Amino acid sequence: MEDCLFCKFVSKEFETNIVYEDKDMIIINDINPKAPVHMLLIPKVHYKYLHEQSEKSAELLGKCLHKLASLRCELGLDEGYRLVINQGDDAGQTVPHLHVHILAGKKMDWNPA
Ligand code: AMP
Ligand code: ZN
Repeated sequence: MEDCLFCKFVSKEFETNIVYEDKDMIIINDINPKAPVHMLLIPKVHYKYLHEQSEKSAELLGKCLHKLASLRCELGLDEGYRLVINQGDDAGQTVPHLHVHILAGKKMDWNPA
């Protein structure tokens, strides 16, 4: 999609720090980390909201999460990790391309407020 930052990372039009890539996703380091480990899992297909997913893209997202779980040790997530998907303004979504925040590297409180 034109003018989408994350699509430009996927197409390599813009450079970023890619930690992992396969045919379905890239995983990059977040530029403004909120935890000692803060990465973004970015599916290659562009859509903004979970409710815009096709059955195919829903399957791909499941596959990406399954792959992420298998990579947990090499990504430094073996002590635990938190996955967050911000959806819409109230949740603070700023990039309109669905992505999964991967947070780890410290004990986390549970305070979504
Ligand atoms: P969200 O607010 O849930 O849409 O998440 C967007 C995330 O993208 C934020 O955590 C930003 O820090 C991150 N971000 C924005 N620009 C970049 C960039 N150029 N490289 C890496 N991460 C970015
Ligand atoms: Zn996009």
